[in-house]
Formats: sequence, C-alpha cells, structure tokens
Amino acid sequence: MKVVSCDVLIIGSGGAGARAAIEAHDRGAHVIVVAKTLEGKAHTVMAEGGINAALGFRDPDDSWESHFMDTVEEGVFLNDQRMAEILARESPDRVFDLERFGAMFDRDEQGRIAQRPFGGQSHRRTCYVGDTTGHEVIMTLVEAARHRGIDYRSELVVTTLLHDPDDAGTIIGAFAIEVHSGSYLVFLASATILATGGAGRIYTITSNPVEATGDGYAMALRSGATLVDMEQTQFHPTSMIFPESAKGMLVTEAVRGEGGYLLNSEDERFMKRYNPEQMELSPRDQTARAIYTEIQEGRGTPRGGVHLDITHKGRDLIMARIPRMVKQFEKFANIDITTFPMEVAPTAHHFMGGVRVVPETCESTDLPGLFACGEAAGGTHGANRLGGNALAETQVFGKRAGEAAADYAVGRSPPVDHDAVFVQREIERLEQPLGAEGAAPHALKEELGRLMWENAGIVRNEKLLVEGLRRLRHLGRTQCAVKGSRRYNPDWVDYIELQNMVLVSECVLTCALSRKESRGAHYRSDHPKRDDSSGLVHYTCTLQDEVLHIGSVPVEITRADPTMRKGD
Ligand code: FAD
Repeated sequence: MKVVSCDVLIIGSGGAGARAAIEAHDRGAHVIVVAKTLEGKAHTVMAEGGINAALGFRDPDDSWESHFMDTVEEGVFLNDQRMAEILARESPDRVFDLERFGAMFDRDEQGRIAQRPFGGQSHRRTCYVGDTTGHEVIMTLVEAARHRGIDYRSELVVTTLLHDPDDAGTIIGAFAIEVHSGSYLVFLASATILATGGAGRIYTITSNPVEATGDGYAMALRSGATLVDMEQTQFHPTSMIFPESAKGMLVTEAVRGEGGYLLNSEDERFMKRYNPEQMELSPRDQTARAIYTEIQEGRGTPRGGVHLDITHKGRDLIMARIPRMVKQFEKFANIDITTFPMEVAPTAHHFMGGVRVVPETCESTDLPGLFACGEAAGGTHGANRLGGNALAETQVFGKRAGEAAADYAVGRSPPVDHDAVFVQREIERLEQPLGAEGAAPHALKEELGRLMWENAGIVRNEKLLVEGLRRLRHLGRTQCAVKGSRRYNPDWVDYIELQNMVLVSECVLTCALSRKESRGAHYRSDHPKRDDSSGLVHYTCTLQDEVLHIGSVPVEITRADPTMRKGD
C-alpha cells in the first residue's frame, strides 16, 4: 500500500478546499489536495447567483453589521454568531482576494464590482459574474493553485480519517481508494482539512451534484467528531420540474433578484399572501413553503409546480444577467424563458449543519489535527442560509482553515506511522459487498432519496419522521452486492457512499425528531411555531460504539438578541 506524507492534507477541491490549499501553501506548508472529482469540477462550479460581501458599492449604507444581522435573522438565531460575524466582516476582503487572483466580476456603471439584491437581505450586496459565479470562482482558484504548483490528486475517494496510533484522539491523515485502479492509499499529514461539501444527494429531488453524499460528515462522525444542526436542510424554492432528467436542477435566485414573479395557476403573485413586504425576495424557507402550499392546495400547474416569469424584463436584460438559465431551459425543456414563464418547484439544496468547529480556526472541537470548512462545517447559517453566503463561507473559512492548519502543521514532524490493524478493518468493511449476493447499491440510493424526500422533506412531523427512521433502519440492514472488481467500479463507489448517506440520513431524521418546533428550514406541521421558551440549543450528533447519540449545546449569543420575533 502506498503511503504519502505531507504537512496539510485537504479532502475536497471545491471553493473551500481550494482556498484553504492556497492559504496553507502560502504559509509554507506542503499541501496535498485529494478529491473524488476532477480539478475544477466540484459542486462549487455550479454556484450561480453570486457571493455576498458588504462592499457598499450599490447601497452605500450597507455594512458588515447589516450583513451579520441579515445572516442571523435568516438563520432564526440558530447561527454560531461568532462564525456569522467573521463571515460578514471578512467576505469583502475575500472577494478582493478573488479579484487579485484574477476573477472578473461583473461591473457597475462606475466600473466597480456590481452587486444585486438577493432574498432575505436588507441591501444589494451579492457580487456576481452573470449566473455563473461559481465557475469563475473555482476556475480562478484552480489557476492560482496551479500557479503555486499545489499537488492536486483527483478521482480518489477518501473512506476514513486516520488516528494517531499513539494518541487515539488526534487525526493524522486519511485512507483513500484510487478510483481507476482500485488501489489503496494512506495519506499521513500533521493536519487534515475536511472540505467535502454537503449531502444534498440523500434527497431524490436535489440541486446537488452526484458527489454530494455527505462523506465528510460520516467520516468525521465515525472518527469521534461532533456534528451540529443536522436537521437544518435547506430547500431552495425554485428548480426545474421537467423533463425528468432535469428535475431538481436549480433555477437561481438571481431570477427573482432580477425581478422575476412567482405566479400560481390563477396567475396570482401569491407571495403577497405569505410575505407582502419581501414578496419574491422573501427568505428561502418561506418561499419554498409558500410554493409547496400553493401546489398542495391545488393552485399548482398540471405538472406540479408554479410559474416563475421574468419575460416582462425584456430579452436584453435576461440575456445579460441570467444567460445560463436561458441556455438551461432551452437545452433541457426546449423553452425560451425570454418569452415563456418557467415551471418551478422546491429542491433540496444545502446543509446548514456539519462538523462542529472552533469559529476562529475551523478546528474540530473534538479532534486535534482535524479542521473543517465550507459546507462540511456547521454553524455559520443557523436554521437557514442566505443566498450568496455559501460561496462567501468557502472563501472566508477556507482561508482561515488553511491558515490554522498550516500553523498547526509547520514545525511539527509529520506522522510516520498509522494503525495497520485499523486500516485492515477498514478494507474488510469496504470489500464486504464485493462478490456478495444482495441489492444493488444504486437502487438503495434511489430508495433512500425517496424516503428522505417523503419523510424528512419541506414539511415534517413526528409520524413522518418515526416512519422515516423505521424505513431507514430496514434499508440500512439490507445486504448489498457489488459485481466486478475494485478496479474502476462505480457500483463499489455507490456502496461506499450509500453507507455514508444512511448515517447522515439518520442524523437528519433523529435531530428533526428532537427539534419539536419550527425554525427556519426545519418546519414541523405538529409544532408549527418557533419556540424560544426552552432555551435555544444546537442539536448535536456523536457516535459511540456505532450508536448515534443526540445531545444539545446552548447557542452562544454574542451580538444579536434572539428575543426578536422575526421568523415566527
Ligand atoms: P464542494 O464544492 O461541494 O466541494 C466538495 C469537494 O469534496 C469536491 O471536490 C468533492 O469531490 C470532494 N469530496 C467529497 N467527498 C469526498 C471523498 N469521500 N473523498 C474525496 N473527495 C471528496 N452558493 C452561493 O453562495 N451562491 C450561489 O449563487 C450558489 N449557487 C448554487 C447553485 C447550485 C446549483 C448549487 C448546487 C449550490 C449553489 N450554492 C451557491 C451553494 C454553494 O455552491 C456550495 O455550498 C459551495 O460551493 C460548497 O463548497 P465546498 O467547497 O464546501 O464544497
């Protein structure tokens, strides 16, 4: 088995991993980035509408304080306020870093970075590159990393973190499979950063790419880390609903930011009945539930969506501001959105929860040597994420994680040994379905997606969640069969991901059952109100002897008063 050493191992090459790599490298660390995906192809490339930074170019009275308050109000006070503050204070500098690395943001009339309005925000602060912002961000970062000669290794699936054989609490790297050869690799590192993104793929309807299977959450949990806020899964209000192959594909918030109307089958701008002040730019949870309600109450389209109409803005503006949407609808649905409304419905989009970290350093609160950033880490967004804040999070906390991991690693001698017995057990776990009789992992993945959509979707209640857990336990016990060998075997990768998805789904269902109130994206029809009376807590997940434990820790209030009633 090949053993590779470095100072800082980064798992994941999306916006967060790439930014962390640049920072760690610039602080003198020898960095290796490993990822399931090819360089530049991570989920981040799909980000469309923009990145938030209180630059104050479009609205001079914008400020980091205002960005912070919007973030915490949207998060219904479940945010880690220290993380929200860091995000709001530092995102302007991180946007300027991107410019320095070569990103070409769209400009306003005076040549400054243009800023557009986004849902739930008091000011126009979302910086953008048309509706392909993520593409610009990731290409810029990949280029900056290449320029530095950073070692990227693609198409490697990391399956577990490794503990120091002399100090079981400390993480010293990870174990991976090289997809094309099926061979095993051990990475030994003084510091390991999880930048593995989210787990949208546990839902059958999702905007997320195939790799978003929650591997980082599952690996962190199995290694002894704590996860927080796992019940908080965001459903984006608008995604394509046909054809079947495009179901769930995101229709960016920029469409509403640029003035698009949401209309039901009676041609009514129905948001006026849900949030007459903010209308189409209401917070994502409210808008998604409003669309869901219209459809449930029979005011949807025959295909089961609502209309999103931007035709009144004229072809020129549409082509200039949301060209990708024009292409997307032309290509998949044969519809010209400059003359016809889009048909849309909600889609599973973002994990607000994740690995519990120290806000300033992104270090795991439980495991020395482990850091997490981007969507892999929990806390910043609380119960709901503002559009544009995820890209900001990748840059702000990617930089901080890279910095802290490099400082932790440089000067330490890299680990030289790993626990061979542990690795052998891991190999046995991975190879268990090879040649066995049983169900195909991809079929179980599909079943899991339906289960989570039906039982832990936009509207939840005790009956649905308990039923979901029962279905999940049955699914989790099903024997899988993987045909063929270890060499380039997508079924085998499906099996490995499925194990992670089942564990992450258990976290979502169990935390959702524990949170007996509605808060942000977590809406319970049996507890439809927000409830501050029993103290505001984060639900936490830990694994002990392979059994999931749910605990709670109080939300630390540093700045914003949670007795404000917004979000009721
Ligand atoms: P990712 O970009 O998801 O990268 C994760 C990396 O980890 C990948 O390289 C993956 O291959 C790797 N990985 C995962 N598991 C393993 C494993 N086991 N072994 C090895 N590697 C692994 N946010 C905004 O702020 N603004 C927007 O306009 C916006 N638009 C969006 C549009 C769409 C369609 C979607 C889906 C999301 C959008 N978001 C947006 C959200 C945002 O894109 C993501 O939250 C963010 O890009 C996540 O970045 P990340 O670096 O944390 O993870």
